[in-house]
Amino acid sequence: MTDAASNDPVTSSNAQGEEGPASGMKADLETITSLAKRRGFVFPSAEIYGGFAAAYDYGPLGVEMRRNIRDLWWRAMVQERDDIVGVEAAIITNPQVWTASGHVSNFTDPLVECRECQGRFRADHLEPDDQGVVRCPNCGKAGAMGEPRQFNMMLSTIVGPVSDESGRAYLRPETAQGMFVNFENVQTTSRKRLPFGIAQIGKSFRNEITVKQFIFRTREFEQMEMEFFCHPERSLEWHTYWKKERLRWHYGLGMRPEHLRLRDHTPDELSHYSQATADIEVHYKWGWGELEGVAHRGDYDLTQHAQHSGKRLTYLDPETNQHIVPHVVEPAVGLDRVMLSLLLDAYDEDEIGGEKRVVLRLAPSVAPVTVAVLPLSRKDTLEPTAQRVASMLRKQWKVQYDDTQSIGRRYRRQDEIGTPLCVTVDFDTLDDQAVTIRERDTTEQIRVPITGLEAAVRERLEALQPHVPSLDEIEI
Ligand SMILES: [Zn+2]
Repeated sequence: MTDAASNDPVTSSNAQGEEGPASGMKADLETITSLAKRRGFVFPSAEIYGGFAAAYDYGPLGVEMRRNIRDLWWRAMVQERDDIVGVEAAIITNPQVWTASGHVSNFTDPLVECRECQGRFRADHLEPDDQGVVRCPNCGKAGAMGEPRQFNMMLSTIVGPVSDESGRAYLRPETAQGMFVNFENVQTTSRKRLPFGIAQIGKSFRNEITVKQFIFRTREFEQMEMEFFCHPERSLEWHTYWKKERLRWHYGLGMRPEHLRLRDHTPDELSHYSQATADIEVHYKWGWGELEGVAHRGDYDLTQHAQHSGKRLTYLDPETNQHIVPHVVEPAVGLDRVMLSLLLDAYDEDEIGGEKRVVLRLAPSVAPVTVAVLPLSRKDTLEPTAQRVASMLRKQWKVQYDDTQSIGRRYRRQDEIGTPLCVTVDFDTLDDQAVTIRERDTTEQIRVPITGLEAAVRERLEALQPHVPSLDEIEI
């Protein structure tokens, strides 16, 4: 799979998934792309130079949302557990890593070139028409495609001052290998016993022939991956556990359960070393697409690295006093794809007082702004109190202070970026030392004293967090 979330080094073709019945999601890609740019979530990269194919820059709201998602992943996978630790490995490392992992020889896509227009395409993406003729998607010429050749998808570079092949190195195509090559060091220093996991968040790079769907598939992307090392006899149990646990995590971010599904790979989709792999898929408006992969990698990676490095990468079982090669279960998800899925899923349109409204129903834990503080007017008399309220709330939440335009337009703007709560300071505040909290989803307003504001905000934010079922409640 080439998908950002997965790591299969043996084949890079996208198994299936981007077709299916229309879903309940309201937003299409154009709507979200436009909102993301207009409000400062995602910009085309280097737009003043006309952008760059499939590269994006994240703006002020985008970075906040990404930090939230990253933090939630790290908290769930590392901080709240005793059996997982983290690493941050180098993006450009010893190229032997990629020989051992299989990426140098197998991480390829079949590439064809049109003899007429020199356009390049993935051979497995071209379909013959009714007459069985393959037409060029670019110039329309029939039968002009050359023979497919295997194209390696790793982005390579030259390290050092001499530009010859001796300096050839690669930008990592996945973060996973950083955990495998550090297995011994982490095991020794953290003194973890099986089962235990190693987690990492970081950028990866793939020289995709075709890129599409906004930030769904890009050449540079950010992965959140965890390698869970366990006893071979218990690996299938752990695979089931992680399928459920990862589904729970997505529910916790606010993804609507009806827009998520778990799909087990069919035997012909599985790698030769994998006993089981499942995808967590999202029901986009254009069909189902992969969000996260939960792969059973067997002992493939540790065995490969042991062979190529000559080091023993095993675990000494204290009960049997035997060296075993642990099996690995790997939940791997792309941060960019999580963000896109949340934006699409949260997008909604409704009507308030006869007026159309766009609202992002993001969970408070992922929303880029948690509370907006809005003085009713720009009059100087309100400013000191409003600023005081804002700095009080800033100690705990991401706060935006906005005193431009009419209050109605400011509410709309906050609704459109998914801010769960607005706090309004008005002229009565000066007398009664109370403010108004307005909820995004219901537009309901309540008046609370400033002294009780923090508690009231916390209570409301908690109430807005999605319900997460327990592990037992999840049926797969
Ligand atoms: Zn052509």
